[in-house]
Amino acid sequence: MFLIQCTNKGCYELQQAYIDPKTKQVFCSKCNNEILTVTQFTKNQMIANKQFKQQTKTSFMVKCNHCKKENKPILVKDEITCPHCKKIINLSAPFIQMLKEKLKTSSDI
Ligand SMILES: [Zn+2]
Ligand SMILES: [Zn+2]
Repeated sequence: MFLIQCTNKGCYELQQAYIDPKTKQVFCSKCNNEILTVTQFTKNQMIANKQFKQQTKTSFMVKCNHCKKENKPILVKDEITCPHCKKIINLSAPFIQMLKEKLKTSSDI
């Protein structure tokens, strides 16, 4: 695994960056901004190591009980809301709590 120093203002974290194998762009795992100083050699090594983005997004996917679309919900007035039909999604209380925490702390909203 490669630890790469992020070059973005306000971050500069030494972290396990990830690469998009299609565009060959490298991104910081902390701030999710592109890191531009990565050499071609390192990029090739990252692809060989399959150092791609962690699939954490899937845990955010919620099926809306109104429009039946599967989406990453949004938080409106502290309610888990469908981004498509803008209705409050009907979920179990523990799941709502977990989602709220994730949506509040997630940086990629
Ligand atoms: Zn960063
Ligand atoms: Zn919906």
